[in-house]
Amino acid sequence: MPPESMPVSVVTGGAGFLGSHLTDRLLAEGHRVIAIDNLITGNPANIGHLAGNENYQFIKHNVSNYIFVPDEVNYVFHFASPASPIDYLELPIPTLKVGALGTHNTLGLAKAKGAKFLLASTSECYGDPLVHPQKEDYWGNVNPIGPRGVYDEAKRFAEAMTMAYHRYHKLDTKIVRIFNTYGPRMRLRDGRVVPAFIGQALSGEPLTIFGDGSQTRSFCYVSDLIDGIFRLAMSDFHEPVNIGNPREMTIRQFADEIIRITGTKSAVEHRPLPVDDPKVRQPDIGRARAVLHWEPKVEFDEGIRRTIDYFSGWLQRTAAQRKAGDGRGE
Ligand code: NAD
Ligand code: UDP
Repeated sequence: MPPESMPVSVVTGGAGFLGSHLTDRLLAEGHRVIAIDNLITGNPANIGHLAGNENYQFIKHNVSNYIFVPDEVNYVFHFASPASPIDYLELPIPTLKVGALGTHNTLGLAKAKGAKFLLASTSECYGDPLVHPQKEDYWGNVNPIGPRGVYDEAKRFAEAMTMAYHRYHKLDTKIVRIFNTYGPRMRLRDGRVVPAFIGQALSGEPLTIFGDGSQTRSFCYVSDLIDGIFRLAMSDFHEPVNIGNPREMTIRQFADEIIRITGTKSAVEHRPLPVDDPKVRQPDIGRARAVLHWEPKVEFDEGIRRTIDYFSGWLQRTAAQRKAGDGRGE
């Protein structure tokens, strides 16, 4: 495709786990991608393979400040935000700012460019839900002043701001409510349960179950999620859409699965349950099925095996680098 006729997508948070996978998908679909990221929780290694790609540009910038993009832009995907509970508890103010000011700036960019806009929202908008499974018309049960409130309320504000731009400025906006997603390029030590348990299992350390492990989550493999997001971006649907895998399990069952699949000798150990940790979480994906003709395809065992391969490769590379570094130091 001649470069001038390629759609141009801005991806904020483009060096993160999801932003980098979304970038790969957009490039494969024939888009030019401008990634904007301040690397606060992102990893340059996630975009290392894109160096030299003439359809890709990286801008290091904090999107809570004014965003300047000289090019024509057709799509804005706002994915920038700390996303793991450990990250947003360590970064409460930047999390609130990127959900509020960052969303305002990215909406402003989309409006100025006449671009379509997609917000990466979250199942955390439902808080500790009193309705199960969660449907998009459920308004949620969020503690605004608890430690998780910095993330949950920032995302709820971001949704409100997005709908205001849609209703008032007639901007073409979409909102995806992402449920727990996992896969390669997560940070091993970002504190989320998938990298935590896999890292512990591969290192022979005990798997740290918070609370009694009876809380549930539903895990979606990253390629399925990105497919749902791409379909939503290309749709004409403006209300929020849940994207996630409805296969629900307790955290205790999840630990057992990781022990089974890795074959580790690791034990489990219990730690205190974090404040306001949701007791259940499972997406109702009826809307995604009906509107986007989407549903997840990757089986749990398959997705987890691919993720284990990624983390074991990462651990081996890190150990080799450490050894080489030690060698040089001797
Ligand atoms: P991540 O931490 O890997 O990626 C987030 C990226 O945003 C990082 O590269 C970080 O450096 C960047 N960033 C943060 N603040 C920024 C700022 N002010 N300016 C520019 N860049 C900034 O997390 P992720 O899992 O890839 O999450 C991406 C998005 O998806 C987030 O908005 C998150 O809330 C949402 N989400 C993710 C999940 C999930 O399961 N992974 C679930 C629900 C919602
Ligand atoms: N969790 C756990 N051990 C860990 C990390 C997380 O038991 O080492 C639990 C956590 O308390 C929560 C679930 O696993 O109930 C999912 O946590 P995660 O941080 O992945 O995401 P959340 O769904 O809470 O945003």
